[in-house]
Formats: sequence, structure tokens, C-alpha cells
Amino acid sequence: MSDSQFELPDLGPVKKASVQDAARRFHRCAEAGVLRLAVASEHGGLGKGFSNLVAVHKRLGQQTRDPGLILALNAHVWGALFPIIKFGSEAQQADWLPKLLDGSLVGGHAITEPNGGSETGAMLSIAETVPQGYRLNGCKRYITNAPIAGLMVAYARLDDGPGIGAFFVKSDDPGAEFSRGPSVAGCATATMGDVVLKDCLVPPSRLLGKPGAGAQMIQSALELERAFIFAGIAGVMRWQLEHALREARGRGPNHRRQAMHQAVAHRLADMKLRLDTMELWIDHCANLCDAGRRITLESAQTKLLASEAFLQSSLDAVHILGAFGLEHELPGLVADAMAGRLFSGTSEIQKNIIATLLGVGRIGG
Ligand SMILES: Cc1cc2nc3c(=O)[nH]c(=O)nc-3n(C[C@H](O)[C@H](O)[C@H](O)COP(=O)(O)OP(=O)(O)OC[C@H]3O[C@@H](n4cnc5c(N)ncnc54)[C@H](O)[C@@H]3O)c2cc1C
Repeated sequence: MSDSQFELPDLGPVKKASVQDAARRFHRCAEAGVLRLAVASEHGGLGKGFSNLVAVHKRLGQQTRDPGLILALNAHVWGALFPIIKFGSEAQQADWLPKLLDGSLVGGHAITEPNGGSETGAMLSIAETVPQGYRLNGCKRYITNAPIAGLMVAYARLDDGPGIGAFFVKSDDPGAEFSRGPSVAGCATATMGDVVLKDCLVPPSRLLGKPGAGAQMIQSALELERAFIFAGIAGVMRWQLEHALREARGRGPNHRRQAMHQAVAHRLADMKLRLDTMELWIDHCANLCDAGRRITLESAQTKLLASEAFLQSSLDAVHILGAFGLEHELPGLVADAMAGRLFSGTSEIQKNIIATLLGVGRIGG
């Protein structure tokens, strides 16, 4: 199936952010097969690779104009689905993959804590080894999908050795609570919240990968998230550019022609250049992944470039339309874009990664 044959779900208009509507939109995408993109056929996926995922996400973003939905899908795919494919045992894959692929189980990853998200080394959540398995305690914040998720890959420091462990936590596990946390502006339709673990006992089978390998697993998950989360957002930005162009040519509801002002035309040229450049970077990452290559450097470069592009173009789109630009959905994209500079690692963290790979600085600091 080529990307143009993939039938996108009809999601209807974005309603005010609500948990019910977020779940409905997520499940419609799951029914259409969006969660199976880039997953190999032996794991129950469509087996069409990362380039196909990128192409479909771009179309989905352009059609839905909903960065929150894009965030929710990406948190599920890179935060839960792919870590299980990459690091899960056969038994874990048999337990979790079918439900994560058909969307009957919504997933995500819980890394960030109220004391800070950038420094994973400062993580306070703790996994104590006990005869039954692990006793988990800690609080995770700003976790995409938490209010609608049934499964989280939650990261916690191990009490009996160096490093971090990754654990499957279910929303109905005794001692686990997934809830709506503080409300934040930006990507609100994704729904995010807290994952609180209070003496949450999980059996040894809930440990994902090797004990102490959590930090590498976080990097591996974020590497893919950083590369591809902006594919759908590029679609939203394609709509944003077309909308701004239509208005600037005087063909939109505002009926004012601003495009004859060179300053306005230059803003539109910059928007076009940013969008095309970030799409080239995302496509490059997809080609590398399809060739089985790691993309540690390329994904940090893509995330940095794309998130800064989204924010600048969102500001430009409002500005081009004047006060009329504040009337409808364009200002919401500015808030979404501000969130985009934070999730999956802030712009400073991407620069730290790039600098480290250049042999200067250190990852995370
Ligand atoms: C919409 C949204 C969705 C999210 N979804 C998830 C999710 O699903 N799972 C999850 O675990 N987290 C999620 N997060 C949290 C996100 O990962 C964090 O916001 C991010 O890692 C930054 O952490 P922080 O907000 O605690 O800021 P801090 O880490 O406190 O950083 C504050 C400022 O200090 C700077 N800074 C911090 N450390 C350094 C450093 N070493 N070098 C240079 N500058 C530094 C940062 O760049 C930033 O400007 C989400 C956030 C948002 C906004």
C-alpha cells in the first residue's frame, strides 16, 4: 500500500480539548491502521517502513490541523510500542503488542518528574527490588496520554545497582494512578497528566530490557520521537502556509491583500523555506531508519530545526494576517509550537547532544 492509498480516518472538527474527544480521535486513527505504520509485518504492522509513516503523518497533520493528536499518536508509538518491539521479550511482545497496535490499549512513556525533565540523571522515582519483583515509588508529570492510557513505560532508578530501569505499569495496577495533572497551554487535545506510583508492586516480568539499561532506552525512544513527531506537524504547517498565502493574496475571508508588501512576502518566503527544509530533514531520518541506521545526531538536528521552525512560522502566520490572525485557530498553533520546543527534549538539550557528538560538551548538560 503506498502512502497515498492509506485511507485517513474522518475525525470531524477538533472539539474543545476533552479526555473523551482525545480518546475518540486516537481510537479512530488506530482503527484506520495509523499505529501499524513503520511496524514490521512480523510484529503485526503494515511493514512499509518509516518513509511511509512520514508521508501518512504529513497528510494526517494537514487534514486534522491538530498537533495534540499528532503528539498523542507519537507518544504511544515511540514511547511504548517501539520500545517493546526493540527491547521486549517474546512473552512481553505477545502480551502487549496486539493491544497497542489495535489501539485497545493506549500507551506512552513516563520520564519527566515535577523536579525537572531535562536531567534524567536527577530522576527521583525509585524501583526497590523485593521478593515479588519491584516496588515502584515516584511521580511523573506532563505525561502525554496519561488520562487515556492503560499502559505506561515508566522509568525509575534502581535501588540495588547503578542506573535506571524501565517498567510496564498499568493504569489499574494497585498503587498506580494515571490522572490529569496541571493544565498546560499547547497541544491540549493530546491530554497529558501525572503518573503517580505509591508502593506499586510489579512482577519481574514487567521489567523491560536489562536492569540499568533505562537511560539508553530513553535515548533510543526519544531518538525516534524527535525525528518523526514533526512529520505530522509539517502537515499542519503546510495548511498554515496555505492559509496565510490565501489571506495575503486577498482570497480569504478577510479580503485584504497584504502580499504586495515586500515585508509580508518575505515572511511567506521564510515560512516556505522553513517547512521545506524541515521536511527534507524528516525524510532524511526516515531514509536512514529504513536503511537500518541509527539517527542520534540527525534526530537531534531535526527536532531542533523543526521545533524552532514551527514556532517562528506560527508567529509569522498570525502577524501576516494582522489582528484578524488572532481571531481563529492560528494563535493556538503558537502555544502548540511553544510546547514543541519542550517535549522530546528542549532545544538546549538538542544542542547539547549535537555538541557532544561534535566532541564538545556532554549529553544532558
Ligand atoms: C506537550 C508536552 C508533552 C510532554 N510529554 C511528555 C511525555 O509523554 N513523557 C515525558 O516523560 N515527558 C513529557 N513532557 C515533558 C518534557 O519532556 C519536558 O518538559 C522537557 O524534558 C523539559 O523538562 P522540564 O519541563 O522539566 O524543564 P527543565 O528541565 O526544568 O528545563 C527548564 C529550562 O532549563 C533548560 N535546561 C535544563 N537543563 C539544561 C541543560 N543541561 N543544558 C541546557 N539547558 C538546560 C531547558 O532547556 C529549559 O529551557 C512533555 C512536555 C510537553 C510540553
